[in-house]
Amino acid sequence: MVRRAWFIVAGLVLVSCAAGCPGRGGSGTVEPTGGGTAGPHGTPGTPPDSSMSRAEVPDEYKWNLAPLFADDAAFEAGLAEAALQRGELAGCRGTLADAERLERCLDLYFRVRLLTNKLTLYANLRLETDTESAEAQARSDRALAAMQELMALAATFRGEFLAWDEAALAAAYEARPGLRSYRPYLERIRERRAHVLGEEAERVLSLAGDNQWAEIDLNEIPSDHEKVFDSLLAEIPLPRIVDESGAEVQLALSNYARYRASPERRVREAAVEGLFGALRAFDGAFAAALAGQFRFNVFLARARGYERAIDAYLWRDQVDPAIYEGLVRAVEANTAPVRRYLELRRRLMGLDELHIYDLYTPLVPPVESRIPYEQAVEEILAAVRPLGEEYLATLAEGLDPRNGWIDVYPHRDKRSGAFCAYVYGEHPWVFMNYFEELDDLLTLAHEFGHAMHSHLAMKHQPYVTSSYVPLVAETASTFNEVLVLRRRIEQAPTDDERLYLLGELVESIRTTIYRQALFAAFELEAHAAVEAGTPITAEFLERTYLDLLRRFYGDGLTLGENDGMEWAYIPHFYWKFYVYSYAGGLAAGIALGEKVLAGGEAEREAYLGMLRAGSSRPPLELFREAGVAPSDPAVVGAAARLLDDSLTRMEEILARRGGPSK
Ligand SMILES: [Zn+2]
Repeated sequence: MVRRAWFIVAGLVLVSCAAGCPGRGGSGTVEPTGGGTAGPHGTPGTPPDSSMSRAEVPDEYKWNLAPLFADDAAFEAGLAEAALQRGELAGCRGTLADAERLERCLDLYFRVRLLTNKLTLYANLRLETDTESAEAQARSDRALAAMQELMALAATFRGEFLAWDEAALAAAYEARPGLRSYRPYLERIRERRAHVLGEEAERVLSLAGDNQWAEIDLNEIPSDHEKVFDSLLAEIPLPRIVDESGAEVQLALSNYARYRASPERRVREAAVEGLFGALRAFDGAFAAALAGQFRFNVFLARARGYERAIDAYLWRDQVDPAIYEGLVRAVEANTAPVRRYLELRRRLMGLDELHIYDLYTPLVPPVESRIPYEQAVEEILAAVRPLGEEYLATLAEGLDPRNGWIDVYPHRDKRSGAFCAYVYGEHPWVFMNYFEELDDLLTLAHEFGHAMHSHLAMKHQPYVTSSYVPLVAETASTFNEVLVLRRRIEQAPTDDERLYLLGELVESIRTTIYRQALFAAFELEAHAAVEAGTPITAEFLERTYLDLLRRFYGDGLTLGENDGMEWAYIPHFYWKFYVYSYAGGLAAGIALGEKVLAGGEAEREAYLGMLRAGSSRPPLELFREAGVAPSDPAVVGAAARLLDDSLTRMEEILARRGGPSK
């Protein structure tokens, strides 16, 4: 189950469901639906169908891009306007020692940056629902090129920002209130002044694809190493396996997650062994691709005078690398509940040994029933009621598909997955493939956590400080997701259903906190090896991965011959110290959720204050004000306790039903 987690389309934050979103199934018995609308196919109760065309989906379930550009012609006009504005902006070069000019040029820069943000968002959202269109692809490429040109231009001003001395700049802020609003932007650049190089060196770094200084996250433009990885993964031959019905089927990445979760052991074993064996056959190529990415990260960091790659990438988001390291350590120190979970899983499944391929099948059969979109909306609104009337009213507006925030249903030529995107001054946009399953309900809650975060930050911040970093983002999303799931558990009408939902919660904590922290530890150790000059071979990567599996899961997991190859197909390793934000986000989301539910207005306001603050203060200050620190052992402890308590509740239900075999 690989999801693109949070990717950015040239300045637009697109945040998608965390890798730990729980799996399949669901129960549709919570509340009557509010909308009374028939399904997308006109017949109530008909599940959505991804083979239909976009034209067949009723318009009220599609998002409305008109606030960005009325149509493709307006987009083209916008693209031409942006080029003109860049020309004007280029005239600012060499004039920024004057306070009035500085202010006027920053006005102009942020005006063209906002326009370019809208261009890339429009072009990319059009492409997401029309993936086979060469025209849509070309539109997206041109918008991205406009953004890259703007970023290259922005880079040429930095030297002039740095040339101001402290006292003169302070006086300029005093004299010009308009300039004062750009202070956070200028300060962020000036506080990294020790890492700015001379003009020649900056030019070379930008030719090499340096993105550490980009004012937007260019992580979405894959490196050549990542492209090699993608191609390898797409092209390695996977075996044919025998499915549950006895038929021979071709194993593919697209059906891997399904077969890996098969209730029949020989099927899931064949799927996992099939993939891992294929990875093994190409381990040298996968290792070369990943080592190349890690070495490139270290090269860019060292070129700017950072000791370690993690320092460059985390300080960029104003996150102290000690938070990352503390989080990984705290998760590793709290593995007792996950080991207890593996033991319960082994017993419940009646196995002598638990293997990697036994981890993904639902512990108890899913309680089958569909959750129509309108019912999901009711459930989410009910679950986040503790966040107050104002939050609720805006959330209800966004979830109502007639308001154009959301593209609800899957169809032909629509990309899979889910995300949320925003651009300053407009409502957020949420991309979904709503199949009416439990997973979709939770994904919807997750994405609207991001959407509300964007809405609040934009409402309370100027453009300059309205963005936010991944760690805070994944807190806002998982906060809502966990509230919805916990409410379902409390209201489950039968033991069977509660048992199933508890299993989903437990699995979500394992895959989002433990698995992602393991990935984060892997990234850290592999980069450290590069920094120490150790050659990164397939053998090294496998040994490191196996060691982490043992450290996190203990003896409860029996490791097979190829299990250490799992590192080879994880796309997140190309995302540069990203995955810790899943683990930290969910741990903080759980801790904050408990605080808000148990607390009063003060706790609620503290949490909402963090969302409203955008990037006006460093993320750790925001967490502190909200009352948590993601690396605090107590925060990880709250998540571990929720896992442990959930296991206890599962065992109580099992004991009532006669218990699992010992
Ligand atoms: Zn997310």
